[in-house]
Amino acid sequence: MIGVDRDDGGWLVVEVESEPTPMGCPACGVVAHSHGRVLVRLVDAPAMGRPVRIFWRKRRWVCPDPGCPVGTFVEQDDRIAAPRSSLTTRACRWAIEQIRREHASVNGIRRQLGTGWRTVWDSIRPLLQAMDADPARFEGVTILGSMSTCGTTCRPSRSRPVGAGRRS
Ligand SMILES: [Zn+2]
Repeated sequence: MIGVDRDDGGWLVVEVESEPTPMGCPACGVVAHSHGRVLVRLVDAPAMGRPVRIFWRKRRWVCPDPGCPVGTFVEQDDRIAAPRSSLTTRACRWAIEQIRREHASVNGIRRQLGTGWRTVWDSIRPLLQAMDADPARFEGVTILGSMSTCGTTCRPSRSRPVGAGRRS
């Protein structure tokens, strides 16, 4: 974790980046060279009653082998977020818990996350489909995962039931 800030919208913004480690090219396995960073903004599970944003400074790499088709590539870490998800893995798990245990609506969830309905649904739909196909795979998975950002700022949020009466 690099820093925590509160922006004007009342969001908690947590900036994260991975530890520097050698990276192999996914195609040819040659040790890749560092090639700057890409800032990715993600919606995280709410903390202390506030929506949270993760600013993930992803490492970008370049394969030094001129014959390799990969060129540059960006680090991925499913513990933080699935490759095309706008929600962190933790936010997805949180949202699914809310739906399954608290019978929350996607609309209630998107309000607590401070984001759009489509953003939530596009991120959790593949997970819900995978769970339906193979429920055992998700048994015993911790909601918080192993994200390194969890210091004092992102304690597990208490789940707030979003009842039918609060749906809009
Ligand atoms: Zn390569």
